[in-house]
Amino acid sequence: MSKVLIIGCGGVASVAIHKCCQNSDVFEEICIASRTKSKCDALKEKLEGTTKTKITTRQVDADKVDELIALIREVQPDLVMNIALPYQDLTIMDACLACGVNYMDTANYEPEDLNDPEWRAQYEKRCKEQGFSAYFDYSYQWAYKEKFEKAGLTALLGSGFDPGVTQAYCAYAQKHLFDQIDTIDILDCNGGDHGYPFATNFNPEINLREVSAPGSYWENGHWVEIPAMSIKREYNFDQVGQKDMYLLHHEEIESLAKNIPGVQRIRFFMTFGQSYLTHMKCLENVGMLSTEPIEFEGQQIVPIQFLKALLPDPATLGPRTVGKTNIGCIFTGKKDGQQKTAYIYNVCDHQECYAEVGSQAISYTTGVPAMIGAMMLLTGKWNKPGVYTVEEFDPDPYMDALNQWGLPWQICDHPALVD
Ligand code: NDP
Repeated sequence: MSKVLIIGCGGVASVAIHKCCQNSDVFEEICIASRTKSKCDALKEKLEGTTKTKITTRQVDADKVDELIALIREVQPDLVMNIALPYQDLTIMDACLACGVNYMDTANYEPEDLNDPEWRAQYEKRCKEQGFSAYFDYSYQWAYKEKFEKAGLTALLGSGFDPGVTQAYCAYAQKHLFDQIDTIDILDCNGGDHGYPFATNFNPEINLREVSAPGSYWENGHWVEIPAMSIKREYNFDQVGQKDMYLLHHEEIESLAKNIPGVQRIRFFMTFGQSYLTHMKCLENVGMLSTEPIEFEGQQIVPIQFLKALLPDPATLGPRTVGKTNIGCIFTGKKDGQQKTAYIYNVCDHQECYAEVGSQAISYTTGVPAMIGAMMLLTGKWNKPGVYTVEEFDPDPYMDALNQWGLPWQICDHPALVD
């Protein structure tokens, strides 16, 4: 029986909150705190009467550590679930340390202001050291490891689908299916259609930054970086069909390369339709993806933030999105001296998600694992002081919970491999 403070009330948080409210035995009380309190109040009103979980709401600016500390001291939660944006990861971790509370999130830190000269200098140094140039990486949050250890607190990083469930699949494969994993291909397919010429399935600013950045993969102990969208493959996804997919940099590659001993190659592919890519290229070419503020009619505006205001809110895509997602990991390796392959994946239907919680499958496949990660910490199934990613814990209770709470997985022993 626990009390949780949930920060953020967007597409993913809304699903996680629905799921916490279905699981009142664990989530006895939740406080939803976000920048726009009216969204928290509207969700509380929708859920009250359908759940035994007690819900309260607060306003908070999670960029401000002092505000967060005051809120945590007032609410006295057992855990803070950060489902705001990656920009807030460090301020929320600082506040958790100051208040002695466990922490979790769904995406690793990235700075909001990419033009800050001090940050830029550190970033360029880190690019050389790391061998990839993504704006997001684990270094910022891994730097908190000792502080969390000393405080006897746990920080669980990236408990969404990818990152998150994909790492649980890897830990499961390592524990039960393979003696040695040689290669991992993470395949993220959204076969859904929302009927708009262009929209993103989660926060547009975060999404567009991710897909317009150079791709990279891990091979034989080092990173290989490639121009954005320059490696394309086709794959025939169960229950979705044939799709084009492109190699992207993705955060879980970084932690899996450390935590899966002897792995030789890890790649991440995501499907995109031609229309999405054409729109994105065009927006990029005219400067709409830029994070650099410009002066417009006496006002400073950031192009990508202005674009976000024009695009459909991902939280409104639910009723109009049809089709399925298929996300999983293909493994090659050895078991008992024999070569072996396996594919662990989940298929999720957009309309079924909407019927259950009022959201499309992208928010659903992220919000459910957020609730499950929180449940692992709150029930003591996952509990060790420090800062950890999902594959560093026992996958079994998490994998069981995925089956129980709406993201059942399956294993195919002889999948088609990606060349
Ligand atoms: P949304 O933009 O829909 O929601 C973000 C929420 O955070 C909003 O409620 C927003 O408030 C709130 N927020 C933003 N800034 C602040 C602030 N300074 N203080 C307080 N609240 C703030 O995003 P999503 O729900 O789509 O994404 C949530 C997270 O999930 C992101 O970190 C994203 O990267 C991650 N994600 C992870 C995936 C995975 O598989 N691991 C997949 C998809 C997303 P307001 O309403 O005022 O804007």
